[in-house]
Amino acid sequence: MSQKKIDLYGVMGDPISHSYSPNIHHLFALQTNQNISYELFLVPPDDLENAIKSFQIKGGRGLNITLPHKTTVLNYLDEISERARIAGAVNTLLFEEGRICGDNTDGVGLMNDLEKNYNLKLKGLNILILGAGGATRGILQPLLKANPLSLTVANRTLQKATALMEHFNSIGKISTCHFEDISDDITYELIINATSAGTKGQSNFFPINNINKNTFCYDLSYSTKPTPFKKWSIEKGVRHSVDGWGMLIEQAAESFYLWRGIRPDTNGILTKLLTHSH
Ligand code: NDP
Repeated sequence: MSQKKIDLYGVMGDPISHSYSPNIHHLFALQTNQNISYELFLVPPDDLENAIKSFQIKGGRGLNITLPHKTTVLNYLDEISERARIAGAVNTLLFEEGRICGDNTDGVGLMNDLEKNYNLKLKGLNILILGAGGATRGILQPLLKANPLSLTVANRTLQKATALMEHFNSIGKISTCHFEDISDDITYELIINATSAGTKGQSNFFPINNINKNTFCYDLSYSTKPTPFKKWSIEKGVRHSVDGWGMLIEQAAESFYLWRGIRPDTNGILTKLLTHSH
């Protein structure tokens, strides 16, 4: 009796040992009855091209790409999806008939979490994003397309926020400012923390006063303990403050769908993940 072939997948990054992606994709594969393997690859920046080519030669079918490679990987692609091109960042590779195709599922991951899991309607909201790095690049397009009333990007380095404003100019209007200059005149209904400050243990830099119990606070960072942003927002009295686990699982589900053509049910995955991981 012939054994069913195992299709190879994985994630490349540096560092990578902390990644939950293998566990998430194994849970998806179990649920949808797919015969796949999914491995971690520690790939330093100057080895990315080689690592991708070796994976392709081994017959690999798909990769996730994470820090610090999401932008540099653009140099090694044969094709790029529209949403990844606009974001200028790639987190998913598909290997198809000798070609390497890049896509970005971060934006749809956040939107699925906000709109599907939390039932948040973004149309007409005042949205504030803290941070202007790679993650912000990935989420700006779908957020702008959801027709918010206003979208402000505040960043420690103003030039980076301004560069994003110019890059996304054709899709929608973005205002930018330093953290200290966040306007007190607008009450933000949604504040997204897209900085990596919390992961570095820095927590006292959210200089925002115009937040109230109805503000929805979303931290892209995630941890098994409450993140500094989540703690801060709860101290401010907000009722809805969540971290980035949902986005992590939803962006993985979208990658899985691109690779396998089957959309896993993300309901209950987080509980299983935290029970089985680490
Ligand atoms: P980048 O390194 O590209 O950007 C980091 C951002 O954080 C920059 O805007 C930087 O400001 C800001 N920053 C860093 N330290 C500080 C500080 N001490 N005070 C104020 N601002 C600071 O990272 P990413 O955009 O890729 O990732 C950001 C976060 O989002 C990470 O925590 C990451 O884990 C998370 N993430 C979560 C995902 C999920 O699925 N849940 C997906 C992708 C990312 P400056 O420009 O001034 O340097």
